[in-house]
Amino acid sequence: MKLIPLPAFNDNYIWLLHDNVRALVVDPGEAQPVFVALQQLGLQLASILVTHHHGDHVGGVAELAKATGAQVCGPASEKMPEPLTRLVQGDAVQALGRTWHVMDVPGHTAGHIAYFSPDAGLGAMPSPVLFCGDTLFSGGCGRLFEGTPAQMLASLDKLAALPGNTQVCCAHEYTLSNLRFACAVEPDNADLKAYAGHCEGLRARGLPTLPADLALELKINPFLRSRCDSVVQAAQAFQPSLCTAEHSDSEVFAAIREWKNQFK
Ligand code: ZN
Ligand code: FE
Repeated sequence: MKLIPLPAFNDNYIWLLHDNVRALVVDPGEAQPVFVALQQLGLQLASILVTHHHGDHVGGVAELAKATGAQVCGPASEKMPEPLTRLVQGDAVQALGRTWHVMDVPGHTAGHIAYFSPDAGLGAMPSPVLFCGDTLFSGGCGRLFEGTPAQMLASLDKLAALPGNTQVCCAHEYTLSNLRFACAVEPDNADLKAYAGHCEGLRARGLPTLPADLALELKINPFLRSRCDSVVQAAQAFQPSLCTAEHSDSEVFAAIREWKNQFK
């Protein structure tokens, strides 16, 4: 099995997973990069997995489905191109001979879902793979367009509980700007500094920073670290009203999200 991020638009990735014969793609916001890859690699498109309804994730779905006959799977509660296999938390879909477990991860959109396979079988050792759309990014998280901070925090908590060696396939290359913000939140985080240097090197060579390693994200991503003392203190400096004993986890998370929205 091979996992390839196909660049689309300015900073989207359409993830393509294949076994040298058949392929699945995730969130094809445009069809053309997928058609080109299928032709170059001699692949037949079997499945299209969609995480949420935004145009940069669904724009190519109808054209690809029509041309290839691929099965389209997506969130049960969002407006999607039809026909669609509608999925909710606890459902499992078969694609490329693997089982993909569906997780509800609201926050960026109300019906956002993620797909997790414990054994997508990349490389020598089968490793878990997560397609999380615009929920979790490397060093960051999606904007809260349709959900509350408490919902997004609960969604990220679910993802954070997956195995540490999970390869996190995010839908955007936002890593460097996320890490600039993360360094402002945790200037003394040595793992973060090292990772930022690593990612700058990758981008300088035109390479993707993704997939991300979940165990590393837990050490560097402020949105997965909103209960750590260093992040709580930074949130309190940004929003002094949090300096009371009774602040909730989601209030700290909300402050970090708001800080990021304003961060230049
Ligand atoms: Zn989106
Ligand atoms: Fe997006």
